[in-house]
Amino acid sequence: MDKKYVDYMVEQAQKLLAIHSPTGYNQEVQQYLREELGRIGYPETTGPRRGGVACCLGGEGDPITLTAHADTLGAMVRAIKDNGTLMITPIGGLNPNNAETSNVEIITKFNGSYSGTIQVENASTHVNPHVNDPRSFDENIEVVIDEDVHSVEDVLALGIETGDFVCLDPRTVVTKSGYIKSRFLDDKACCAILLAYAKYVKDEKVQLPRQVWVQFSVYEEIGTGGATLIPRDAHDIIAVDMGCVGELQAGTERKVSLCAKDSKGPYSYELLKELALACKENGVDYAVDTYYRYGSDVEGSLVAGYDARHMTMGPGVYASHGYERTHISALEQTFQCIRFYLEK
Ligand SMILES: [Zn+2]
Repeated sequence: MDKKYVDYMVEQAQKLLAIHSPTGYNQEVQQYLREELGRIGYPETTGPRRGGVACCLGGEGDPITLTAHADTLGAMVRAIKDNGTLMITPIGGLNPNNAETSNVEIITKFNGSYSGTIQVENASTHVNPHVNDPRSFDENIEVVIDEDVHSVEDVLALGIETGDFVCLDPRTVVTKSGYIKSRFLDDKACCAILLAYAKYVKDEKVQLPRQVWVQFSVYEEIGTGGATLIPRDAHDIIAVDMGCVGELQAGTERKVSLCAKDSKGPYSYELLKELALACKENGVDYAVDTYYRYGSDVEGSLVAGYDARHMTMGPGVYASHGYERTHISALEQTFQCIRFYLEK
């Protein structure tokens, strides 16, 4: 595919990854998405009251929605401890083992933000014989704030309170060999793919044979992002979300994965076949998989009453919900699958 769109996709992934957006803290990422859609030629965007950004790319009839989620895992202040550290509660499936030692930004409601680090309690191995105990957010994981604080009063004086968001540094790296390593590739890699597709439709003046919407939802990590998609009368809804890579999976970090079934059950068999055929006929490198510990936004749409065919597809991502990795070629294959499917 045209290098211009590949470069744009990677650039947008990096920009989106740099914006903190744990579920519930969505204003900044929404604003960025609206502005970027405006810059590439879509000044008219809309969105559900609850949050998210939707944009019609053009075409008429038989509406289809492609949805990616702009929210990520993260944490929230649960309590301020007597020693001036913070007990946190995870947002989404954040794992305490791989959250440990992450640098974080604590965003206060009225007093700016502060940096800190997620650590096990009493983290110096030389003074703590229990330093290798199992990790738990409820028991022994805390945030050490990078300020001179030693009491609840000290922390309150900074303006940090229960309910403040704790955002993890994504540590984004793009290697010379084309790998993208970062937290939250799930699902910002796919947000970047949808932006690139929107740009491609505009720049190449693509005549879409049906009405195509892209939507960026902001409540996926807690299971309800797809409940308020636009338009309400979508005939097909495709969640563009990470593919599972690991033992017994056919998907890889270089392919687009098509999900036949996840934890909740099978996806639309017809839609799966149509997407697989679009890949087969156009040389797109794809894999069909079942995901046995996975749920997607589009299931939320069905529960919310949408009568649509549903599907999940996206780039293979290794070490999901941890320090994730994919390859630029998986982003390209996902873009091409969408393109060939929609323009058939
Ligand atoms: Zn996801």
